[in-house]
Amino acid sequence: MALDLMTLMLVSTVLCFITALLMAYVRSGYPARYRLLLRVWAEALVLQGLGWLAFVLRGTVPDVVSVIFANVLLLAGMQRINHAFHLYFERPIPWPREAGLMAAAVLFLTVFQWGWHDVTTRIVGMTLALAWPLVHGLALMRRYARRPWPPSFRVVAVFLVLTVAVLFVRAVNQVFGTPVDSIIAVHPTQIALHLLATLAPVATALGFALMVATRLQDELAEAANTDPLTGLANRRRVEALARPWIDDPDAPLCALMIDVDHFKRVNDRFGHDAGDEALVWLGSHLRVQARATDLVGRLGGEEFVMLLPGTTATEAAVLAERLRATVAAMPMSFAAHGDWPLTISVGVASRTPGDTDVRDLLRRADDAMYAAKRGGRNRVVLAD
Ligand code: GH3
Ligand code: MG
Ligand code: MG
Repeated sequence: MALDLMTLMLVSTVLCFITALLMAYVRSGYPARYRLLLRVWAEALVLQGLGWLAFVLRGTVPDVVSVIFANVLLLAGMQRINHAFHLYFERPIPWPREAGLMAAAVLFLTVFQWGWHDVTTRIVGMTLALAWPLVHGLALMRRYARRPWPPSFRVVAVFLVLTVAVLFVRAVNQVFGTPVDSIIAVHPTQIALHLLATLAPVATALGFALMVATRLQDELAEAANTDPLTGLANRRRVEALARPWIDDPDAPLCALMIDVDHFKRVNDRFGHDAGDEALVWLGSHLRVQARATDLVGRLGGEEFVMLLPGTTATEAAVLAERLRATVAAMPMSFAAHGDWPLTISVGVASRTPGDTDVRDLLRRADDAMYAAKRGGRNRVVLAD
């Protein structure tokens, strides 16, 4: 059976346009900040579709359309894919370099179409030009994608690598094997190229839409585990991160429960915004005082926690006292209202062999913190 490459090109064209339409449609279901990503990928598909369409029209339209425009549109499509990766990984799009590549490609195509008509040089040159944005996109993924790569990243990467590989094999064949004289000449490398041209736009578009969904999912998971006011871990994350520490009965672990004294008065006197400001300040102070291995969280209201792995009760008490003293020594300064002597009460507890859940440890730290309140506030109490 002879494969009709012209028909395959027509299929590529149609698939590119349909996939672009579908992407533009599903885009509306994403939050605003992700819509641009999907739009850019849809634009890449439209450019590719137009490129294939220009190839399909070979013979019925002037060569400037079916050779120069076709290649330029395909290249613009590849560059737009690269732009989508830049936007995804929040990197600035390197416009001057992109424009330079495009200008070089137009010049090169013009010279080797009308100056020295040489299909081999044209194929080799366009292979390099088309592969460059894809290789660059893959490099961005390698550098910035979280590890291990989610499946959606793998789908996109596999098809981009395949595309680059087929482009290169075709160029190598052109130089060292059986050269072809047109885009529809039947040869195994050309069949591979055209089959991939029908598959890759659909597979990579699906993969990219899922990459965007993965990003959204990561963001939601992050939000579900973070206190929005202070950016600290919330109770859910504290409990999740503490689990392996609790499960290791031989490792020392201490908890500090930290509660602002008479915080209600701050709100009553200076307003809720000033109260928020104080909470943010305290959160960052605790974070600065903590070691890299310590976990600082906000459990709710004006109640903070610090989990200190590898720390003895004595060391934890020293840290708690330092926190108490430093907070008491620095009156909170509210820009619009003046100073307020912020103090904290701290309960310190050390894990016992009976602790099977981090909540057991936190409960004892909490009891100690309430003992500190009863004892007059602005003090540190160690749990029994
Ligand atoms: P104590 O010394 O006994 O801890 O007294 P307190 O006033 O700090 O404790 P209380 O539990 O009576 O009040 C806590 C206050 O914290 C009440 C609430 O309005 C305030 N609060 C809780 N969450 C927030 C918040 O996110 N922002 C602000 N500004 N205030 C908050
Ligand atoms: Mg309080
Ligand atoms: Mg409280």
